[in-house]
Amino acid sequence: MIAENIKLIQSTLPPSVTLVAVSKLKSVDDIMEAYNAGQRHFGENYATELRDKAAVLPKDIEWHFIGHLQGKQLKYYIQFVHLIHGVDSIDHLQEVERAAAKAGRTVDVLLQAHVAQEETKFGFSADELCGLDQSVRDLPHVRICGIMAMASNTADQDRVRGDFRNAKRIFDTLKASLFADSPSFTQLSMGMSHDYRIAIEEGSTLVRIGSSIFGPRDYSKQNSKQ
Ligand SMILES: *Cc1c(COP(=O)(O)O)cnc(C)c1O
Repeated sequence: MIAENIKLIQSTLPPSVTLVAVSKLKSVDDIMEAYNAGQRHFGENYATELRDKAAVLPKDIEWHFIGHLQGKQLKYYIQFVHLIHGVDSIDHLQEVERAAAKAGRTVDVLLQAHVAQEETKFGFSADELCGLDQSVRDLPHVRICGIMAMASNTADQDRVRGDFRNAKRIFDTLKASLFADSPSFTQLSMGMSHDYRIAIEEGSTLVRIGSSIFGPRDYSKQNSKQ
């Protein structure tokens, strides 16, 4: 089923959109099934789970860290991570800078924009993002490649669309100002299994899809994975 799901979803995506297969709490066998169907971008939420999977899986996988960032856990994946999606504060940005410097590499990140109309989601507000100054762009070991956002968790499609539209507006504003001469500022990560079609219509370049590929997750496995 996993291979079929991957092929079906890939066939509906415009060429400008990259599919990140979200494999948190899924087995290495499941990931290999997706890999053998041609999938190379995978997303994980838990630092030690990412470390353990990357150690045994093919080296040409591009790993995306999409979980909530914790500075002390950066060491588990900083050497090999392809893109960190959820940098949601200046403190976290500086923690990534320090960890990347120590690892001797430059790490690509996205800034998380808070656009959902809920208290519970992490991220910078639109005002905070538009008020950022050059110092964030000039970090020597961090390259800011765009914006990540999650829409409100609601069945109201107009609200979901409005959230994504806000994220796109923030992305466009930054691209035209602080990042105007940063050619790598190109990525807008938004859209999950239930809302990725709307996200693509609103300008997403990276969709993070888990359950529509791998089936529902067993969250009882989560306790050991913090
Ligand atoms: C788990 C997760 C996803 C994937 O969610 P699905 O509904 O299974 O597609 C996407 N983005 C983030 C940040 C996640 O934590």
